Amino acid sequence: MKKLWRCGVCGYLHAGDEAPDACPKCGAPKEKFTGLTDEEAEKVHMSERTNDIHMEIVGLAERISALAQEGLEIDLDPPCVALFKAAIKEARVIKQRSKAEMEGHMKKGKW
Ligand SMILES: [Zn+2]
Repeated sequence: MKKLWRCGVCGYLHAGDEAPDACPKCGAPKEKFTGLTDEEAEKVHMSERTNDIHMEIVGLAERISALAQEGLEIDLDPPCVALFKAAIKEARVIKQRSKAEMEGHMKKGKW
């Protein structure tokens, strides 16, 4: 398991034997980085895949929403329109649920 370093200015996480010379996100110098404890790093490593899955789910939900919107615009018949409206609502719930879970991970340092 690689050591993790967090930028004290922007929160960027770097994996490596030592902190980077400059933060790739905000440009802060190496001294602004602090090493995570093994316990903190473990939380981040354990949630890495689930965070990726949540992000992919958010992207898929956006795709469902865009497809359903296209279907709405075709306006074939009322049952079809109702189905697309429901899909847009459901996709919004799926997306928001995953975003809320990711926010929870971030607040608990699992990011
Ligand atoms: Zn930074």
